[in-house]
Amino acid sequence: MINVSKLKRGIVIDHIRAGQGYKIFQQLGLDKLEDVVVLMRNVESGKLGRKDLIKIETDLALNFDVLGLIDPNVTITYVEDGERVQKVKLSPPQEVRGILACKNPRCVTNQERIENVAFRLVNPETNEYACEYCDARTRL
Ligand SMILES: [Zn+2]
Repeated sequence: MINVSKLKRGIVIDHIRAGQGYKIFQQLGLDKLEDVVVLMRNVESGKLGRKDLIKIETDLALNFDVLGLIDPNVTITYVEDGERVQKVKLSPPQEVRGILACKNPRCVTNQERIENVAFRLVNPETNEYACEYCDARTRL
């Protein structure tokens, strides 16, 4: 196994539900970074059985809305000089704009290509959001 435990400076996104790591990787655009980014999949974890984990060796403004949408149970730890300096717990955002697209093909947002549509959280358990125009449910 690669030793990635020593991170001098950067961000660790931990406790990602197994299988969701790649989605987070893509949605945060980590593939476009030129810094070291490690995605570990199916890491053994006592609490979850298996988990995914992402280490980013740089400072980066993470989109917490995107993270909260995909998996609000992740933990984010900021590392500075090899020390944990801040830990962030997420919750699903109440409303998001410009991230989700409506899945209803008859929705006006799809017919008229309306952008920045707002979606509000309707079910925190399933992370379902409702379109502001047609109320159709969707999730990322
Ligand atoms: Zn809609």
